Amino acid sequence: MRLYNTLGRTKQEFVPQRGNAVSMYVCGITAYDFCHIGHARSAVVFDVLVRYLRHKGYDVTFVRNFTDVDDKIIKRANEVGVSSQEIAEKFIGEFYVDMDALGVLRADVEPKCTEHIAEMVALTQGLIAKGHAYATPSGDVYFAVRSFPGYGKLSGRNIEDLVSGARVEPGEEKRDPLDFALWKAAKPGEPSWQSPWGLGRPGWHLECSAMSEKYMPLPLDIHGGGQDLAFPHHENEIAQSEAATGKDFAKFWVHNGFVQINSEKMSKSLGNFFTIRDILARFLPQVLRYFLLTMHYRSPLDFSFDALEEAEKGARRVYAALSQIDAALAGTKWSKTPLPQDILDEQAGYEQGFVEAFEDDLNTAAALGHLFGMVRLAGRVLDDKAYRKSEAGRELLARIKAEVAKWSGVLGVFGQEPEAFLAALKACRAGRAGIEPARVEALLAERLEARKAKDFARSDAIRDELAAMKVEVKDTPQGQAWDVL
Ligand SMILES: [Zn+2]
Repeated sequence: MRLYNTLGRTKQEFVPQRGNAVSMYVCGITAYDFCHIGHARSAVVFDVLVRYLRHKGYDVTFVRNFTDVDDKIIKRANEVGVSSQEIAEKFIGEFYVDMDALGVLRADVEPKCTEHIAEMVALTQGLIAKGHAYATPSGDVYFAVRSFPGYGKLSGRNIEDLVSGARVEPGEEKRDPLDFALWKAAKPGEPSWQSPWGLGRPGWHLECSAMSEKYMPLPLDIHGGGQDLAFPHHENEIAQSEAATGKDFAKFWVHNGFVQINSEKMSKSLGNFFTIRDILARFLPQVLRYFLLTMHYRSPLDFSFDALEEAEKGARRVYAALSQIDAALAGTKWSKTPLPQDILDEQAGYEQGFVEAFEDDLNTAAALGHLFGMVRLAGRVLDDKAYRKSEAGRELLARIKAEVAKWSGVLGVFGQEPEAFLAALKACRAGRAGIEPARVEALLAERLEARKAKDFARSDAIRDELAAMKVEVKDTPQGQAWDVL
């Protein structure tokens, strides 16, 4: 498999360093608020990467941390008047609610910063002993950036460029504006822990270095996170870990792209900020997950509710095809009519194309294109009565169903029972359109009575009333059916 490595800016063949074992660390959330669409994208991207590596037979150890002490958490706690621990616990719980809904698997280890203070103190002591860090009279500890020659290698920045943007805030006792905090002396009203430098708390970057090394051997095979973390967070992680251990920190650095809203940067101040919870109030989690996979993970992803509705249509098409395949496979009499070779070749092409897309830097967008090809091909067989009722047609439909089932385990979509999904989707769309299913059912029952009584004027009037409610009525051999227009 080829993966784009931010370290080196090229696609490189991914080969684990220790036989079949793969170690992967991804920076998790800072637990101070509900997760937004950007968090959803990062979580789903790395979830699919883990699932695919496991599908390939690798024994993956996946570690994703929770930052549970940080300036933002402390600020929020002080605003609400509770402890920072209570804030962190609440939003870790909310993270699980969202991620479980999206089908994001739990990591193998989910370490919390506050449970690894001793490891972070030890790492800091080691850096001081080697001359890479220094304590200040007021009890802060800084990493001396100029002591680590590789600084900037991940993000492609050089020290001289960074100097112009570096600042020393009032009260800081940095020797160099480039230096960053490993340990911060306690301030009133903040959680703190005992250390050789007095009461204090760790700087944000330190936890990922300490916790990845605790649970996996270095170098890590893969370190991941959002593109916004490459600098300074990941650059600082590299500096801390490599200066302390003398080893490479991670072989592959994988970063997912930004989420934009209607082509603009998402921000609370612009009023275009969506939490996962906001979106799941209107769309099925499966639809959101599918939408997130319709773009290559490194491309910017443009979020809009219109785009989400398009994704919803796509997901519905796949499940509707699966439902029709199930109905066709329930047949009993099969003819010997052969399928044209081009149909079989086309299916083989989609199967190969799907794998090639995944092997080429986890290109879920291209892979989904091949999956849709399979769905269209199923439609071609289903629409042709001779093919649909033939042994060869049955075999192809069963093969397409098996392919979708196999890849649903990697994509985390299209694995539900088709009828259950379609029913849930109908209810969801009805809710969004303000349609009450009970009211629709009552009108349909009345329409049936009117038709029995040959009161066609009344029957048509009810149909118009339903159409005004954005309800489409279909008369099928099994009776009346309805859907949201
Ligand atoms: Zn991190």
